[in-house]
Amino acid sequence: MDGLRAIGNDYALLGGKGLRWSTLRWGSQWSIFRCTVYPCPYCRWIFKITWGPFNSLPGTGERACWHCKQVFWDGSNGWPEMSSEDRYSFVLPITIGGYLAAVLVIAGLVVYDLLYFKMPANRVDLSVAIALVLPLLVWFAFRSVQVIRSVRRYNERGKPGAK
Ligand SMILES: [Zn+2]
Repeated sequence: MDGLRAIGNDYALLGGKGLRWSTLRWGSQWSIFRCTVYPCPYCRWIFKITWGPFNSLPGTGERACWHCKQVFWDGSNGWPEMSSEDRYSFVLPITIGGYLAAVLVIAGLVVYDLLYFKMPANRVDLSVAIALVLPLLVWFAFRSVQVIRSVRRYNERGKPGAK
């Protein structure tokens, strides 16, 4: 690919470490309070800031700087090219993972009520349950669309004659 490659600069906002998945024995290496700044390799204009060391969006990789108009590679990959770790942190970052866990605990309470007290869930109102689950549905729908678009873009790139 033509053009320079953008190099991400990591900045830790909270003492360098922060909360890591590895603390929870989830293997990977990023912290919740860490961000990565991506400057344009030509003019150093910052074009992207992500939380964590990963590129958060699958993309074509090519990007034109809106400041100096040079085209460079921003380091992002199509979904089929991403590693399983990148895919995991893309679909389920630590914030969503924590939220999902909280929702599962609440769902567990509801099931507990149903099984052991033989009565409808009265600890959690149904409307509250929907309000809790809805953001997750929206999140996964949003991510699904991004993944599908990335796969389609990737496949089109591979076709002969496609540019
Ligand atoms: Zn630039």
